[in-house]
Amino acid sequence: PFEVLVVGGGPAGASAAIYAARKGLRTGIVADKFGGQVAETVGIENFISVKATEGPKLVANLEAHVHEYDVDIMNNQRALSLKSGELFELELENGAVLRSKTVLLATGARWREMNVPGEQEYRGSGVAYCPHCDGPLFKGKRVAVIGGGNSGIEAAIDLANIVEHVTVLEFDKSLRADEVLQRKAKSMGNIDIITEAMTTEVTGDGKRVNGLNYTDRATGENHHVELAGIFVQIGLVPNSEWLKDTIDMTARGEIIVDAKGETSVPGIFAAGDVTNSAYKQIIIAMGSGATASLGAFDYLIRHNVD
Ligand code: FAD
Repeated sequence: PFEVLVVGGGPAGASAAIYAARKGLRTGIVADKFGGQVAETVGIENFISVKATEGPKLVANLEAHVHEYDVDIMNNQRALSLKSGELFELELENGAVLRSKTVLLATGARWREMNVPGEQEYRGSGVAYCPHCDGPLFKGKRVAVIGGGNSGIEAAIDLANIVEHVTVLEFDKSLRADEVLQRKAKSMGNIDIITEAMTTEVTGDGKRVNGLNYTDRATGENHHVELAGIFVQIGLVPNSEWLKDTIDMTARGEIIVDAKGETSVPGIFAAGDVTNSAYKQIIIAMGSGATASLGAFDYLIRHNVD
């Protein structure tokens, strides 16, 4: 069996695996897709000591660094369930069961979807979740941003520099974004903000998005907006559904961890965006991966389960 089995190959998982291997622990890492959200990121300018890099470059560096150590890397493998017992048992989608003395969950998060007709049909054909990645595809066109939180308004400001026009649709009466971001957005000539707007449908011509329908929640009236693209910015969902009955989570599905990264089940640790950490960033995910890994080491020397 493994001594530390890491689930997730983003910055948190990579960092955890390296810390565990450096303690001489038998370490495995299972990842649905190595690199995680970083693989989808274009520019990264806040990974301290590296002035500027790109997602795919950072992923290649993460992978190379993990390869420096004796870590069993199982890429393109999805974990389905986790059972406690003498040893923890992690069941994979391919039917394999991996056993380990400790488990470190670093399965990250994904964009929240609107769940309206047309969204899935036009995903990648006008419906987008990543302004950094897909913004340039809409150069000179009209787009919408769904969501008036920090990520939505940041996206609108970012997109307004590239596209012809941005319409922000916010479900609530007011925007939740920081005042400074709202001021910036309002100062840009090509951003319109509509509040109390419930998006009801993504429309298209069968090939690509051509607009959206929304209901004005104040008046009940339905409206259509013509657009080439829709950026959905309504939050992050932790990839923790498969662990619902295993460990304690917040109401939003974030795994609750203590100062050592330990969950409600002794021997199961968690790190990165899947946890209730205050902010979700690469450097934070890496730090918490290191913390949880050292927490697992601490657990192993105390429990000496051989
Ligand atoms: P993730 O990166 O989400 O990795 C999760 C890993 O778990 C993946 O390998 C995934 O395949 C795997 N996984 C999930 N479920 C399973 C399962 N059931 N079985 C097996 N494996 C599973 N942060 C910054 O600091 N700077 C930035 O400039 C920046 N820009 C960003 C831009 C975009 C477009 C996005 C999406 C995020 C950005 N972030 C940025 C945030 C940053 O990417 C995340 O905070 C960070 O990647 C979180 O790392 P993580 O390891 O916790 O999770």
